[in-house]
Amino acid sequence: GPSLFGARANSKGFDLTDSGDLDAIEAARAPHMERLFEAAPRIAGAMAGAERLEVRNPATGALVGHVLTAGEPDVDTALRLAEPWAAAAPERAAVLRRAADLYEENFGPIFAVLAREAGKTAADAVAELREAVDFLRYYADGAAGLVNPARGTFACISPWNFPLAIFSGQIGAALAAGNAVVAKPAEQTPLIAHVAVGLLHQAGVPASALQLLPGDGRIGAAITRDPRVAGVAFTGSTEVALLIRKAMAENADPTAPLIAETGGLNAMMVDSTALPEQAVRDVLASSFQSAGQRCSALRCLYLQEDVADHTLEMLYGAMDELALGDPANLFTDVGPVIDEEARKGIADYVAAARAEGRVLKEMTAPTAGTFIAPTVIRVKGIADMGREIFGPVLHVATFRAGEIDRVVQAVNATGYGLTFGLHTRIDDRVQAVVDALQVGNTYVNRNQIGAVVGSQPFGGEGLSGTGPKAGGPEYLARFTRPATPAAGQ
Ligand code: GLU
Repeated sequence: GPSLFGARANSKGFDLTDSGDLDAIEAARAPHMERLFEAAPRIAGAMAGAERLEVRNPATGALVGHVLTAGEPDVDTALRLAEPWAAAAPERAAVLRRAADLYEENFGPIFAVLAREAGKTAADAVAELREAVDFLRYYADGAAGLVNPARGTFACISPWNFPLAIFSGQIGAALAAGNAVVAKPAEQTPLIAHVAVGLLHQAGVPASALQLLPGDGRIGAAITRDPRVAGVAFTGSTEVALLIRKAMAENADPTAPLIAETGGLNAMMVDSTALPEQAVRDVLASSFQSAGQRCSALRCLYLQEDVADHTLEMLYGAMDELALGDPANLFTDVGPVIDEEARKGIADYVAAARAEGRVLKEMTAPTAGTFIAPTVIRVKGIADMGREIFGPVLHVATFRAGEIDRVVQAVNATGYGLTFGLHTRIDDRVQAVVDALQVGNTYVNRNQIGAVVGSQPFGGEGLSGTGPKAGGPEYLARFTRPATPAAGQ
């Protein structure tokens, strides 16, 4: 019903400390924890398909289902049949709100697929469903205020780390603005994308306005170089964003926008006035929740020298309490990384640091599945890191009183600018640091993940993204064509 304030309220979600909610999740997931799921292209007309592949659970190796991937002929068919959504804005908004309701009602299969296909813990799955629902409702609300027309067909290319939330956010925005969408989910997570598109169609999004093309990077490349694409929404690596930019520059309408949300090398600074328990709790969440597989995650922790030993001791103690394992268990804190390729890349990186004597703390990973145990590595500073390690690996450096500017400069010098965490009880320090940082989202005395739709628009600067921020007031307009007002108005 309408809220007291007449405004949109974020989804209530689930409380994992409430036994009623826990029972409800177990019961609703149960029928979907063993059965096989299927994903296939959803194209408005006939489709060919290329290859049928297995989808396996990263925590156990068990079969989750199959995906029929799209072939290049399917890309052509989908782009030919794509039709911008002709319905008026209020009707588009109503359909997207209905889809949000369907997402909420279908939490059982959604939580099951998120756990089994993407290795999402219950806490992550709850947060992800809530964010997906919030995106749909937030952009539905924004549709009414748009003054400009749709652009045409948007390519929405989404990542495996938020295979429901970011997938739905991109699509929801493009559709709210009246575009057609051709969606290419991450190759690791086609099953949840198939479930989501099924619910969007069931809610009333026309088949020609939303088509799904599962596949790998070759399909993404075929879509983004096609001149029929009027814009691209992409979340993923900075490298792939640059490839898309190049493909669009060579082929697409030169005015077609690229909305890219990419990587980060995110730091947190904890000074000697910070509350140690709070800082440790927020470091733990920022670096190890979602097995560190968030672009917002903390990668490099700067501790003020005089509190470093004590803080690290507390951190190691807290790490020992983390439950690693299969997210089928609702109380798992850290699940697997997404696949064997990711596991190997991170494991090799940790092995090199170990050989240099820089591993300060390492937990033990389960032997089955693609797990990386939460690990802490010593560095001199963020400049030593080079690249984003997309897993539960935290780097630690120290700074002295009086060196705060040096830390801020080092963070800015990475060229990335996504999130930053600051733990301090000195108020003017907060303002000085926030002013000097070139970073999209700065969080003070809390963790630095889990931006909330509507209140914490999310997105970075520099190598971290093009803007506009997702879940913020400027996002939708980028999916429209700036039209010249008619003369005399
Ligand atoms: N919006 C997410 C957060 O605030 C991160 C999104 C991403 O990892 O791409 O944690």
